[in-house]
Amino acid sequence: MSLKSSPPECRPNRRDALAALAIALAALVIALIYYIPAETASLQVSVSVDGRVEEFAPLSRYAGVHTYSHNGYTLTVSCDGATVQVVSANCPGQDCVHTGAVSKAGQSIVCLPARIVIRLSGGAADLTVG
Ligand SMILES: [Zn+2]
Repeated sequence: MSLKSSPPECRPNRRDALAALAIALAALVIALIYYIPAETASLQVSVSVDGRVEEFAPLSRYAGVHTYSHNGYTLTVSCDGATVQVVSANCPGQDCVHTGAVSKAGQSIVCLPARIVIRLSGGAADLTVG
């Protein structure tokens, strides 16, 4: 006979529910921050020809097709805003073409015969400065 049909402590329960909701929202925000790779947004691409930096730009602004020539070799570089790739070259080894697309800080494409280096830097993962 001690059944309580309407407990008077309903307000604190509702506050707990709001707190739980806030925690859930915070967890969602944190998950989204980790899900979107921050380094992609702030990656920089640098292109050096014979040791001289010819190009240094955010990856997003570098999007398009670029050609670089040195030592009698020509590289065609393609960027879609997220990855950079040497799509064609007339160098003997074709190492730069075979490297494929790079998309992370610290990755680079090197063409030794043409002395052209395409390098990605920046973002949280970049520890290669210097
Ligand atoms: Zn090459």
